[in-house]
Amino acid sequence: MSGPDAITLEGAARRAMQLRELLERYNHRYYVLDQPEVPDAEYDLRLRELQDLEAAYPELVTPQSPTQRVGATPAAAFAAVRHHLPMLSLDNAFSEEEVRAFDRRIHDRLADAGAVRYSAEPKLDGLAVNAIYIDGVYARAATRGDGETGEDITANLKTIRSLPLRLRTPHPPRLIEVRGEVYMPLAGFRRLNADAQKRGEKTFVNPRNAAAGALRQLDPRVSAARPLDLFAYGVGFAEDAQLPERQSEILSLLREWGFRVCPETRAVDSIEGCLEYFARIGEARPGLPYQIDGVVYKVDELVLQRELGFASRAPRWAIAHKFPAEEALTIVRDVEFQVGRTGALTPVARLEPVAVGGVTVSNATLHNIDELHRKDVRVGDTVTVRRAGDVIPEVVGVIFARRPDGTRPVELPEVCPVCGSPVVREADQAVARCTGGRRCAAQRREELIHFASRRALDIRGLGDKLVDQLVASGLVHTPADLFHLPADRLADLERMGEKSASKLLGAIETAKKTTFARFLNALGIRDVGEATAAALAAHFGDLDHLRAASEESVREVPDVGPVVAANVVAYFRDAENAAIVDRLIESGVHWPARPPAERSGGPLAGKTFVLTGTLARQSREAAAERIAARGGKVVASVSGRTNYLVVGADPGSKLAKAQALGVEILDEAAFERLLEG
Ligand code: NAD
Repeated sequence: MSGPDAITLEGAARRAMQLRELLERYNHRYYVLDQPEVPDAEYDLRLRELQDLEAAYPELVTPQSPTQRVGATPAAAFAAVRHHLPMLSLDNAFSEEEVRAFDRRIHDRLADAGAVRYSAEPKLDGLAVNAIYIDGVYARAATRGDGETGEDITANLKTIRSLPLRLRTPHPPRLIEVRGEVYMPLAGFRRLNADAQKRGEKTFVNPRNAAAGALRQLDPRVSAARPLDLFAYGVGFAEDAQLPERQSEILSLLREWGFRVCPETRAVDSIEGCLEYFARIGEARPGLPYQIDGVVYKVDELVLQRELGFASRAPRWAIAHKFPAEEALTIVRDVEFQVGRTGALTPVARLEPVAVGGVTVSNATLHNIDELHRKDVRVGDTVTVRRAGDVIPEVVGVIFARRPDGTRPVELPEVCPVCGSPVVREADQAVARCTGGRRCAAQRREELIHFASRRALDIRGLGDKLVDQLVASGLVHTPADLFHLPADRLADLERMGEKSASKLLGAIETAKKTTFARFLNALGIRDVGEATAAALAAHFGDLDHLRAASEESVREVPDVGPVVAANVVAYFRDAENAAIVDRLIESGVHWPARPPAERSGGPLAGKTFVLTGTLARQSREAAAERIAARGGKVVASVSGRTNYLVVGADPGSKLAKAQALGVEILDEAAFERLLEG
């Protein structure tokens, strides 16, 4: 017991009443409206608080307390169905110790049970239903409701295709209640929400609420249109039935009768087996096509279940071992805008640190300015934060009831918070960008981090912190500078030293040998990720062909649309980028050459061209493509290895350089003659 109110009985009574009111409101929002106000973790916390309070002061317990009851009163819009046997809830365990304590209680109650076997089953995150079969024929179905009485959803459940309308057995029981979980597979849930968002409609907070909302429809045609499915996991009342003596065998029987049963269920020998199962399912969880929020352990022998019996709202023979909650409540301390590699401004909420999904979270993304405005997150708000698996924590939504006075909407800054350059947002885009380019320290930093990352040039040991140091010390401006780091100045950096410096230089040297696809990914061209980089590399075969390509020819690459094609061409056309690319190559970055087969034997094979000035008969891109089509290479700058400089009107400094190096100079007419052979 803790908390100031726990000191006196009067204080405890007051707090208990507050908690009951709160929990009843949460229950109504959750079970009746299918729109929870707070995350489950918050609900569980308050319920635990009330349970602890009632344990310390048993005189405070009332039969109506949410600790004593299941669910909520069924909604009046549905016909009421009384269950033959009550449908209960499950007690929760949030840690290994609580699971072991559960097992000890079982052994204490069952004087000499010996080893207790358990049926271990994923705890599906949907809603419980009771389907009644009379003489093997589907007759009626209900939600759990308050545990005694549920809502009639006979027609709605029937829309789930996998539900057997007749049990596959020649000897069905006279009557049987089959219990299971209706859930929405994750793929269907994402599709449903994406469609709703497109239409500007409300989205569902999670698959459980989506499933509950879809099933509890007055018009069953609406249920039919939603992606619902059912896993059966037990039986309630049964009349004239020959049933097996173990829970695990009941699951097999349900499967035989034609129900879908979760394929992950296992019978285990002891509580140790349960804990191993928990770990295994925890690992498999991100790959499961449905959402689970824990694992249920049920004493497998039904005789023992009967001996153990029930407490007020849950059986004594089962427990739900919950995964760490993926959602929690916390307070927004600030909203800042982070500047990414391509200048994109991402709003980030700075949070009061909170434990979510097993780690402490103090920042959460708000994705973009539209999302921020749609959710209307403000400084001072209480928000739900979500962190599932390895996904970046995000703000799910605001608890508006808890918004303090005097908050203001967060606006997009007019200038970059890092470099002060103007922020622009193209009309049809969700993303706002800093226009500073490499003048912006944030963009420089992110460009370098990306360049060195594992799937790009993979420079081992060059992490975020070191990049910050390199940028701050002025040693590195662009990725090309990494290949010209002076060892002595590197060693002088804080926490560096000669040994680490030489290790880093070694890693940079190693990284020079790469693949064309990795190199393209490393450049960080806007909208060109790993997959697009690989597609570009495969299509063009080498850098010169890609650099010379027009938007039209880039669009020929599978899955490359007009926006990406424009970005690719713009990237290489930009003088600063072109110089960096040249310098990278000059620094020795290389990869195994793989020229496209049909071009390698062309008449200009092995010849290197540089283009300068404006050509009269064709664009430079078109000229470059014609060269490439004949097996020649076009590069950006003149060197001793250049074979021809093609000169149009108003040539740049390249002409003088070519003359100095004795490179053959072609005007457009001479160029045409060469092309035509
Ligand atoms: P529960 O969900 O913790 O456990 C009982 C339920 O588990 C059963 O009714 C059944 O539907 C389900 N279940 C899934 N797989 C099962 C299996 N293999 N075998 C047996 N049952 C299985 O209990 P509850 O009483 O329905 O509700 C409590 C849960 O609902 C808690 O997680 C709580 O946080 C949440 N809740 C949240 C709010 C809110 O405001 N966010 C309000 C009320 C309840």
